[in-house]
Amino acid sequence: MPARIPVMDPEDGAVVGYAAQTTVDEVSGAIGHLADSWRNEWPAWERERALGRAAETIADRSERFTALIAAEGVKTAAEARDEVTRCVETLWLAASASGELLGESLPFDATPRGAGKIGWYARAPLGVVGAITPYNDPLNLVAHKVAPALLAGNGVILKPSEHTPLTALAFAEVLLEVGVPGDRIAVVCGGPDVGRAIVSDPRIAALSFTGGPRTAEAITRTAGVKKLLMELGGNNPTVVCEDADLELAAAAVVDGAFGAAGQNCLSVQRVYVHARVHDRFLDGVIARTKQRRVGSKRATDSDIGPLIDEQAARKVECLVDRAIGQGARALTGARRHGVFYEPTVLVDVPEGSDVMTAEVFGPVVAIEPFTSYAAVVASANTVGQALHAGVFTASVTTARTLSQQLHAGCVLVNATSDFRIDAMPFGGFGSTGIGREGVRHAVRELSAPKSVVLAE
Ligand code: NAD
Repeated sequence: MPARIPVMDPEDGAVVGYAAQTTVDEVSGAIGHLADSWRNEWPAWERERALGRAAETIADRSERFTALIAAEGVKTAAEARDEVTRCVETLWLAASASGELLGESLPFDATPRGAGKIGWYARAPLGVVGAITPYNDPLNLVAHKVAPALLAGNGVILKPSEHTPLTALAFAEVLLEVGVPGDRIAVVCGGPDVGRAIVSDPRIAALSFTGGPRTAEAITRTAGVKKLLMELGGNNPTVVCEDADLELAAAAVVDGAFGAAGQNCLSVQRVYVHARVHDRFLDGVIARTKQRRVGSKRATDSDIGPLIDEQAARKVECLVDRAIGQGARALTGARRHGVFYEPTVLVDVPEGSDVMTAEVFGPVVAIEPFTSYAAVVASANTVGQALHAGVFTASVTTARTLSQQLHAGCVLVNATSDFRIDAMPFGGFGSTGIGREGVRHAVRELSAPKSVVLAE
């Protein structure tokens, strides 16, 4: 009997189901199989249609996927349903992305050396792609890796988070049902050992990883020569200017900071508010935060569910307690109840505190006043790393200036960092990752130009 991993509901420890624990030898076998078969004939039109059928099937089974995500993950049913909708969109985007694989004819008359030759290039698959995913979006982030990789003609070995493997297994089942060949995709389950077996295997041509910065560092030390794509965490700033719509900004900050209990790479973590409107904005944020109810994912009146486990909740507690020890004040929350953490608004947080520089990945937001735009840009850019940044202003000039000056993968005007559509290029600069997702962009990352030259 293969060993089984019990998958538990983070809220109460109830067993949701089991996933077979993959051994390191089995990982190697699965990679070998994919390495032998990814070149097998599977034309682009079939790849497109299979992904379109997958989109339809997941839409048909929306309630089943919603229940699975909500049971093994951290999301409320409403948040889980939203993720299923997004996954369907991601699959449709992938089904229509094969234009990204087009090439062009090569200009052999551009240099004298080209005389007598003709040629072209088109984008070719890379080979076997390793996909390693986190727990917080157990369906859509899997789709963001697997669908573009398949569309580009690769084979894929997927290792989902050990916390949420059941959603990924159900997703892979759909792919097989709709005609993705069994020798193009393998799902392996387990923790870091299984991930490491993928990362260190020289037959993996590209590794597409989404997760935390520590894991990313471990991966870069063991990956060897292969293409690395990394979507990591951020400490995302939002700037609220003196002419901002404060109601809009306060509502968006509270949504962006506390959605999925802050377990979101786009979560709003630092808010810089112009001193002239700081107090009014803060009052709005506190009033809204006090209306957020922490409780069971299953209760229809809960807004904020659990952290993934008690260790994660303790880590959030520790970061907040340390900030308070450094002089910060908590105006709401700052209390843990097992795996739950109350939504926490902090002020007076010192710039060097972890809450300002690292990712909390919990329902915590720091709010700081500013008077100088130059200083706020310097803080936003140098204190923590932004995946996305938000700006609230009524002025086109301010929007334009700040969107140029803030160093983030996306600057959102009159919205917080916590927004993307699945077609956007997605990723940040510096320690927030390497490369871009967003379906068309991932297709390009997971393929490469391959030229053909015909001599006379
Ligand atoms: P994590 O880094 O702990 O785990 C991610 C995956 O890596 C899991 O499947 C895990 O088993 C695997 N893993 C762990 N150690 C490994 C190793 N040494 N070698 C190979 N694989 C290994 O992350 P998490 O706690 O599941 O997710 C939260 C993190 O993910 C946060 O930092 C969040 O910001 C980030 N995230 C980023 C994005 C994005 O698109 N930028 C999206 C969602 C989450």
